[in-house]
Amino acid sequence: MSTSAHSPAEPSAPVAGQARTGGTVTDHLVKANVHYAAEFSDPGMDAKPVLRVAVVACMDARLDLHKALGLALGDCHTIRNAGGVVTDDVIRSLTISQRALGTRSVILIHHTNCGMESITEEFRQELEAEVGQRPVWAVEAYSDADQDVRQSMQRVRTSPFLLHNDDVRGFVFDVTSGLLREILPTS
Ligand SMILES: [Zn+2]
Repeated sequence: MSTSAHSPAEPSAPVAGQARTGGTVTDHLVKANVHYAAEFSDPGMDAKPVLRVAVVACMDARLDLHKALGLALGDCHTIRNAGGVVTDDVIRSLTISQRALGTRSVILIHHTNCGMESITEEFRQELEAEVGQRPVWAVEAYSDADQDVRQSMQRVRTSPFLLHNDDVRGFVFDVTSGLLREILPTS
């Protein structure tokens, strides 16, 4: 992926928003939803995750969390962003997850070959130069996924807002083998 804030499309790239077979991507997804709903039956669940676990993971398209972790509908909260980093907004979601919806375990997942590894904090300066305004958020780029998982675990464990920080575990998912590798926290 480009490290530039301004990423012009490759000449051979498909037109933005165009689906594989006519119509826009969104048209395609909305059509798929009609088929999904036709087969769907109300599982009769409430909003509390069955396994009382929240998973924080990168938004990467190659990471199918439910399949990779053997999760079923209703089992967990999934909180995803670029890198799977623990930002203030992730803490917000975890706080609501634990205090209002009963979860108590937290799993953090980064992965190999993450796009975040090709970005630096210069991304913010590039954005500022391009649009005349610096974003208020940190890019949270990292070059060492293991170390960033450790930092993420630390941020969760030390958050004053969370009720439960005794079962916080971190992993790096290998996008070529499908396997999780556990990262031990720094003691
Ligand atoms: Zn990623």
